[in-house]
Amino acid sequence: MAERTKLYEGKAKVLFATDDPHVLVQYFKDDATAFNGVKKGSIHDKGVINNKITERLMTILSAVGIPVHFLERISEREQKIRRVEIVPVELVVRNRVAGSMAKRLGREEGEPLSRPVVEFYYKSDPLDDPLITLDHIEVFGWASTAEIAWIQQTALRINDVLLGYFASIGIHLIDYKLEFGRLSQNPATLVLADEISPDTCRLWDMKTGKRLDKDRFRRDLGDVAEAYHEVAFRMGLMNSPGM
Ligand code: UDP
Repeated sequence: MAERTKLYEGKAKVLFATDDPHVLVQYFKDDATAFNGVKKGSIHDKGVINNKITERLMTILSAVGIPVHFLERISEREQKIRRVEIVPVELVVRNRVAGSMAKRLGREEGEPLSRPVVEFYYKSDPLDDPLITLDHIEVFGWASTAEIAWIQQTALRINDVLLGYFASIGIHLIDYKLEFGRLSQNPATLVLADEISPDTCRLWDMKTGKRLDKDRFRRDLGDVAEAYHEVAFRMGLMNSPGM
């Protein structure tokens, strides 16, 4: 096979070109980073697991009518995706208090929220992804009023689906990050992009409260790879609960 052109290498994934200008290959690495790249490490088979988890969640969302950039998984670590221009606004959807929300507002982690909360962050490594408002998004032209309204509404629909799905496998979906993009083929069309995985979600076991996500890496809680494997097992993507 011909050498592929690498278009972009991020902290956890690499994007490659294909023969079709509107289709890319997204490759999932085992590399793990936290605190904007300050903490670095690797999680055994994370790339394989996150590829499969993202495939499953994107497929579930697509089936209920959410437009996604995912096309098909083509190997253990790779999936074909539609090429997009990423909107430089990350959404965090929260069902319970955790992480930066607990810190910023002085609340206990795990406190339930009476309704989901959507937050916006400006996607910028040099600025450490600052929290922003809808006004910032419009004034600086990161997305139009109509685009961000659609994105926010779609994030809440995604939340309904994912909350129910994770509950059915005994997992509390505490919070997670979403990214959206404009299709290169038709920039008027927005789709859900990037990944949805234990790297980008907080997932707590409903019975024990055990964290089954990247917080095990961020906070040195141990059993990091095992936790990712457990999520994949409960989703029916692995044959055994062990590694
Ligand atoms: N998150 C992410 N990428 C980011 C920032 C946050 O995937 O660049 C996810 C994170 O895994 C968590 C949720 O978004 O599930 C909320 O993260 P938070 O704002 O609490 O930040 P943290 O304290 O995790 O840095």
